[in-house]
Amino acid sequence: MVQASIITIGDELLIGQTIDTNSAFIAQELNKLGIWVKRRIAIGDKREDILDALETESKECNIVIITGGLGPTADDITKPTLCEFFDAKIVVDEGALENVKNIFIRINRPLIERNLKQAEVPDKCTVLPNLRGTAPGMWFEKEGVVYASLPGVPHEMEGLMLNSVLPKLKEHFQMPAIVHKTLFTAGKGESEIAELLIEFENKLPEYIKLAYLPSFGMVKLRLTGKSNDQIQLEQEVSVFVNELKSIVSEWLVADEDISLQEALHQLLKQMNKTIATAESCTGGYIAHLITSVPGSSSVFNGGVVSYANEAKEAILGVQKATLEQFGAVSEQTVIEMSKGVLQKIKTTYGLATSGIMGPDGGTPEKPVGTVWIAVTNGVQTKTQKFQFRFDRKRNIQLAANAALNMMRL
Ligand code: ATP
Ligand code: MG
Repeated sequence: MVQASIITIGDELLIGQTIDTNSAFIAQELNKLGIWVKRRIAIGDKREDILDALETESKECNIVIITGGLGPTADDITKPTLCEFFDAKIVVDEGALENVKNIFIRINRPLIERNLKQAEVPDKCTVLPNLRGTAPGMWFEKEGVVYASLPGVPHEMEGLMLNSVLPKLKEHFQMPAIVHKTLFTAGKGESEIAELLIEFENKLPEYIKLAYLPSFGMVKLRLTGKSNDQIQLEQEVSVFVNELKSIVSEWLVADEDISLQEALHQLLKQMNKTIATAESCTGGYIAHLITSVPGSSSVFNGGVVSYANEAKEAILGVQKATLEQFGAVSEQTVIEMSKGVLQKIKTTYGLATSGIMGPDGGTPEKPVGTVWIAVTNGVQTKTQKFQFRFDRKRNIQLAANAALNMMRL
């Protein structure tokens, strides 16, 4: 079995200043190829620790991927240490040198001696060109184990993984064909979906697996097939995908691995419709999610963060009497907020949220986590009450996702 170990290097990881997202990304990508990740370890910029980790991990794994410590500063010790481990010496790689020079011309900055060091590599490696930065990736093979050393900057590391390391691993280990298909559902819990899928799961052959990937009110269902016959596998997986789709059709957001805001974006664009937001408890987070999708200006007209009652009245025209009688967190208030924003910002849909996110502010009738959401097109208005039970941050994320999901229906 092909097994991998991921070693992330950097003192900043050990003191918690930088969260190690690199190894999560790499693990996900290796997993998609069918490679089992045996261990993920983080170590400091320290020669002995790097040598120690390389030694130990190469005993049990066929693949060792390391990130970090490739910069030109003194604390970046990875390259000299790799030279020691592979009994190699430093040489200048012409391709990498060209890349460094081109990058400095492009950003219009003078090139200093220190930057040229980025083009230096151990002579026992195959250089993996870095199209996103100055530090190249490096590929080594020694005693049946392959090693890839990648820069720590996540964006650069990701480019190198996708463009170089994964294709090379696939070829090197002659990995069987893997077919992934993801269905994206929202509004139904993982265990409830699992109940519906008992019979379906029992029918799956041993080489096609179903994974549940839940997050914030959404569940992604991923079918993964592994076999040597790619074409037949694709056909088989597609039959199961269709069956799965029909079982979960009521909660299906998209039949690809995208975010809720991307799914909403696609939907609005297809229908040539637009949206505006009136947010209280989500504080602009919904507008942020919608505008994080490229091209959002074609579907999003604008948003209002109306946090205080006065703002709800002054900006959105919510009636004082409504606020007094029902409170800010109420069906009546979100209805008026959604209609208010629809009127102020000419748009197809108005979406409004109002809730109590905690930790304080709850009452027995409206405990922390109570959220009302309304969507209107001016003629029809749909409302829903939610009760979340987490901390402030998660409640906000859940409320935003619930609101995006309500837009879909
Ligand atoms: P620095 O001198 O800041 O460490 P560097 O030139 O040494 O930079 P790297 O060590 O490769 O380059 O890391 C570059 C940046 O990438 C670091 O500043 C760090 O914040 C980020 N980084 C490094 N490792 C990881 C990781 N495992 N996950 C997420 N980000 C990381
Ligand atoms: Mg570093």
